[in-house]
Amino acid sequence: MIPLSEAQERVLSGCAVLTEAPVAVDDARGLVTTDTVVAPELVPPFDNTAMDGFAVRSADVADAPVTLAIAGTIAAGAAPDVAVGPGQAVRIMTGAVIPPGSDAVVMVELTETSADGTMVTVAQSVPPGNHIRRAGEDLTVGQTVFGPGEVLSPGHLGVLTSLGMYQVRVRPKARVGVMSTGDELVEGPQPLEVGQIRDSNRHTLLALLAEAGCEPVDLGSLADDEAEIAAGIRAGVEKCDALLTSGGVSMGDYDYVKKVLDEIGDMSWMQVAIKPAKPLAFGLVEGIPVFGLPGNPVSSMVSFELFARPGLRKMMGHPAGTWHRQPVMGRAAGPLRRRPDGKTHFARVRVEYADGQYRVTSSGGQGSHQLSAMAAADALAVLPDGDGLDIGDPVSLLILR
Ligand code: AMP
Ligand code: MG
Repeated sequence: MIPLSEAQERVLSGCAVLTEAPVAVDDARGLVTTDTVVAPELVPPFDNTAMDGFAVRSADVADAPVTLAIAGTIAAGAAPDVAVGPGQAVRIMTGAVIPPGSDAVVMVELTETSADGTMVTVAQSVPPGNHIRRAGEDLTVGQTVFGPGEVLSPGHLGVLTSLGMYQVRVRPKARVGVMSTGDELVEGPQPLEVGQIRDSNRHTLLALLAEAGCEPVDLGSLADDEAEIAAGIRAGVEKCDALLTSGGVSMGDYDYVKKVLDEIGDMSWMQVAIKPAKPLAFGLVEGIPVFGLPGNPVSSMVSFELFARPGLRKMMGHPAGTWHRQPVMGRAAGPLRRRPDGKTHFARVRVEYADGQYRVTSSGGQGSHQLSAMAAADALAVLPDGDGLDIGDPVSLLILR
């Protein structure tokens, strides 16, 4: 067996960063920029009002209350067709251009307009610049806005479009193919025949990929047949940036994924000192990373979490410190038992935040076939080799949700 960290390093060293490409901002959420974004224009583009109210000369309202003549109205989106002269005010709407002559805005709540709409009484004085948002107060021309290496959030996409930029250069989404293997697998609601089970890994893995910001590609369920698996993997690496297979990598007679990958790929076979997910195949087929994940449903999810997700995040240009989930500390609120076996265990746990700490309890049966406890888990609790943890013991957590 090899330590987890060594297996993770081998995987990461085989995952090359994808070639950058331009993408439309509406398709860019969660992707990582490769450019430095420099503001080509001012934001806001002009001095404008932050409030509905009246544009005034601050000197005119210094001795408020004072009554001013209304010289006109400026709506958002309109070019000002009126200036503010001495003793005058202009009605103005949030976002509208500050008219010439004015140096302050009085919000409408501090004013009273005469019945005929020609005069306004301002109740309070306001300082120069009151409620005026200056041109360039957010971004000035030539200012570095962000990037490279920024993970694009909705806010970043808003900034880009506020600058008139509708495309951005990024590391693209990894297109990742998923195929399950096994003669026992069936799809559909029909009654199962003896020995059959329903294929769940493929659907789980497709969803995990989508959650990880990849583009999942369903490559179907393959029989335990050498030629079929070889053809499936060859077709998969043609059209994908990476491939996940499930099943067929253990010591069984019909574990053909292992055999095929040995023939057509440059593979590492690892027995990792973890439970679940001890067996892992990883390597390159035609230069494309292929993750041979174990077939047991919990194992395939944990293996995805510990190996595939970090590798795919690296490929998509995420910063190195964010490839793996960062552990946080909690406390066992129930016993988390295990036996010494030379492995680190990843227990499926529920996590509750109470009294300023994460309180951790088992989420159910810990067998690698017991997917319902994985579904109920908020985190994987890292249990070092030994007898496990007692109530009150500190525990390191990989928070999944
Ligand atoms: P294997 O790694 O092929 O020996 O499979 C290990 C266990 O996982 C066996 O009990 C399989 O039936 C089960 N298994 C394999 N593939 C899947 C799948 N796609 N969905 C659910 N269970 C699976
Ligand atoms: Mg199998």
